Amino acid sequence: MSELGFSTRAVHAGFEPDPQTGAVNVPIYASSTFAQDGVGGLRGGYEYARTGNPTRTALEANLAALELGRYGRAFASGMAATDCVLRALLRPGDHIVIPDDAYGGTFRLIDKVFTQWGIEHSPAHIADLDAVRAAVRPDTKLIWVETPTNPLLTIGDIAALADVAHTAGALLVVDNTFATPYLQTPLTLGADVVLHSTTKYLGGHSDVIGGALVTDDAEIDQKFAFLQNGAGAVPGPFDAYLTLRGAKTLALRMERHCDNAELIAEFLARHPAISTVIYPGLPEHAGHGVAAKQMRRFGGMLSVRLHGGEEAARRFCAGTKVFTLAESLGGIESLIEHPGAMTHASTAGSQLEVPADLVRISVGIEDAADLLADVEQALAQ
Ligand SMILES: *Cc1c(COP(=O)(O)O)cnc(C)c1O
Repeated sequence: MSELGFSTRAVHAGFEPDPQTGAVNVPIYASSTFAQDGVGGLRGGYEYARTGNPTRTALEANLAALELGRYGRAFASGMAATDCVLRALLRPGDHIVIPDDAYGGTFRLIDKVFTQWGIEHSPAHIADLDAVRAAVRPDTKLIWVETPTNPLLTIGDIAALADVAHTAGALLVVDNTFATPYLQTPLTLGADVVLHSTTKYLGGHSDVIGGALVTDDAEIDQKFAFLQNGAGAVPGPFDAYLTLRGAKTLALRMERHCDNAELIAEFLARHPAISTVIYPGLPEHAGHGVAAKQMRRFGGMLSVRLHGGEEAARRFCAGTKVFTLAESLGGIESLIEHPGAMTHASTAGSQLEVPADLVRISVGIEDAADLLADVEQALAQ
């Protein structure tokens, strides 16, 4: 399917109309177990739904097709997928390089849990290849990046980071949650594993939690499959169905997210209450050139810093009416939040601590005029 266009894959990959009924959508297979014809005689390859469920299989094939990878695995959450990568690919005594700006939950899991199991980590600024090289040690097994990062939208050069990782005998994992496979496909740039919180753009409607891993490497995929079944952090069939339903319209939604985010970034860049707009689509963004090279467009996420410090940032978040003050991102509705007190509170006091005057915005697909009017009135309060 990889020769087909993105939306054709999004709509069709993973499921053919059901031969028995003609159903165009994969059924929600609400079955924990599957009848066998004689001991070990599996009818469709399924035995127990932790190991595999046809609705989940359809989602996994679809996500792999979108990321242009061979193997996809779906998980109960993005964090469950993160946990699987770390346990599948690291052993006590190993070292991992992480972004100095990363999703708070990823940092918390590595810092609070994996540290206890003998995994050491070093934060590095992923836009600075020399800094990443300097953070690499002989025992480094993984370089973990997000690009754009959450919440500071730093851009890492995926092809160059893959080179750094492979030269060091390490693997490159890219958390592609912010960009989505519509905007960039890290495996085609040399990454070894792509991770998603499908809770965000892939699901796209803020109605389901999920995660996914995609790789081209059969051996790595087998390690993921072993833990997916062995530890069991799998999505149920209804969650898999919802995520697949969302993935089918990803291209349409992303175009609108990008259109709206560009307009809001330009508007805020001229607004006197804003000291900095952080959006990779703006030419003044330090990663603009790399983003233009490796991304189709610049995404629906932007962050701003306010002249009035933390108080002004909190007031802005509380003052919007169309934007909902809430954690998460990537859904059709616009969201606004204060990372320092909300999504990234776990980074307080660490090298990953976020500025107190920072506001993160997930731009939805509403009418641009309403979104612009809303940020304008909220900043006037
Ligand atoms: C939300 C998020 C995660 C975690 O995913 P969950 O589905 O919430 O478990 C990981 N990485 C990034 C970049 C995220 O935004």
